Amino acid sequence: MMKIISTITEINKTLRPYREAETSVGFVPTMGALHRGHLELMKKARDENDILAVSIFVNPIQFNNKEDLIKYPRDIDRDITLLEEIQCDVLFNPSSDEMYPEPVTEIYDFGSLERVMEGAFRPGHFNGVAVVVKRLFDILKPSRAYFGEKDFQQLAVINKLVEQKDLPVEIVPCPTIREPDGLAMSSRNARLTEDERKVAPFIYQSLKLAKKNIPHMTPEEVKFRLKNQFADQPEFRLEYFEIADDKELHAVSNWENKNGIRGFIAAYLGKVRLIDNIRFI
Ligand code: AMP
Repeated sequence: MMKIISTITEINKTLRPYREAETSVGFVPTMGALHRGHLELMKKARDENDILAVSIFVNPIQFNNKEDLIKYPRDIDRDITLLEEIQCDVLFNPSSDEMYPEPVTEIYDFGSLERVMEGAFRPGHFNGVAVVVKRLFDILKPSRAYFGEKDFQQLAVINKLVEQKDLPVEIVPCPTIREPDGLAMSSRNARLTEDERKVAPFIYQSLKLAKKNIPHMTPEEVKFRLKNQFADQPEFRLEYFEIADDKELHAVSNWENKNGIRGFIAAYLGKVRLIDNIRFI
């Protein structure tokens, strides 16, 4: 039976025997409204560890936009059913007061990583992510934690956090799970209207088309073309399209790079902000 826990005291009580027995804990932090993307991370975590712990916490301090926080989809009863089906052992579902009994004062410095793309358009977002992930790691003390490449920049920030604070946890990246038409799965997809949902796969298609232009075009030319394609799609408002290396996320000016190179998009479709990225090289 899955244990559903909302306090830190109770987590410590529940996990103590596992820790003493050196049982490995696989951990998947989420904001709920679970979909197949989340479930794939969880299955991997379950298969690679003795027990699976999942958190559901809609973290207020990582939302720079109040409406996005209010409208964020929530469906805890359905989430619990899905978690029981995949045999999750522990669900940590704390309140904001439990996570943040005092005002949050930590300030992280991830250098340019937090100033580009999502960092540039969502001020304070990654600090809020780092604060909550660090606290969740301190509370659950997982052996391994699983993160999706869908949020590639977040994954890079978490890797940096673990390195900077020398945290005893292994970060496991997991590939992006997509709908059959290519749309990256996201809790926010539930907020799209029927018409918006139909055109939403354009984001992934445009990334794949951009990739086809390599190496005939320079990154600058690829960007120019994709931006023009978005300009022809009135439903979308492209926030950024960047081509960057996959470690520091620095924009590249050619295709020669010792790291991999990826294309990253953020776009509004109606009122919903969607992100996606794929590997270019
Ligand atoms: P969220 O609930 O949006 O905070 O996501 C929780 C975790 O699930 C994060 O590590 C996300 O990167 C991951 N995730 C969300 N959507 C997908 C997806 N379509 N494919 C793979 N991982 C995902």
